[in-house]
Amino acid sequence: MRLPAVAQGVNPVRVQNLLLYRIVAFEAYPNLRHAIFTRQGGYSQSPFASLNLGLSVGDDPETVNKNYEQVCGALDISPDQTVSCHLIHSADVLTVDSANRRRVMGQADGLITATPGIYLSMRFGDCTPLIFFDPARGAVGLTHAGWRGTMQNAAGATVRAMIQEFDCRAGDIIAVIGPAIGPCCYEVGPEVIDAAATAFSHSASLFVRGNGRADRAHFNMWEANRRQLAAAGVEQIIQSELCTACRTDQFFSHRAEQGRTGRFGVIIGLQGNAV
Ligand SMILES: [Zn+2]
Repeated sequence: MRLPAVAQGVNPVRVQNLLLYRIVAFEAYPNLRHAIFTRQGGYSQSPFASLNLGLSVGDDPETVNKNYEQVCGALDISPDQTVSCHLIHSADVLTVDSANRRRVMGQADGLITATPGIYLSMRFGDCTPLIFFDPARGAVGLTHAGWRGTMQNAAGATVRAMIQEFDCRAGDIIAVIGPAIGPCCYEVGPEVIDAAATAFSHSASLFVRGNGRADRAHFNMWEANRRQLAAAGVEQIIQSELCTACRTDQFFSHRAEQGRTGRFGVIIGLQGNAV
């Protein structure tokens, strides 16, 4: 079944005292558990208020763990069922299964699994969450693409890994571009503009130049990732169009909050009891 590309295909929902977003196109699959969490409903104090899941931002680790138990509880899973990785701004994708699973898989920016009961988990605060589901193969993926990962085509690398590892067809995959810093707020310098000129054809159309300095521009990271997903053959792309920097009431934004902030979570997996 093909779903049309849906703009802003995410819905805010309250679960217990948390505010989270659900992907509308995923609701048709009862075995799929997922959420894009916000910063609302946790225990952390300013500047990490309140649902901070980042352990490396200076927040109290016990409080972060309490927050993590809460988000897992909202999905009716245990933290032990989740798998994450150390994000390194790469396009490296790891395949997780019952044999190799660990709470932290090592260094990577993409995780994929086709094993029910393994829930992929990552933390974000401006970088792009890319969320993948193939209902035909029962496979999921989760990728972290900041500007560096975007220049390395982390989106395309994840799609290729799903095809290679699980025999997915790109046309079956539903991909979601989650809350990330948007073209409205993401001013960048020559480092990003030059890297995009190498990584993308027609890279100029990924930037909006303002009246300020000639060597600075606003980067459309949402569109850059959408192009890469489309180039990889994905037909069902959902662009949430939620800007983390515009919406610091709901999301953490490294840029908007000058680095003193937390990380919100995304979790996805298929229901089951992987050992
Ligand atoms: Zn914005």
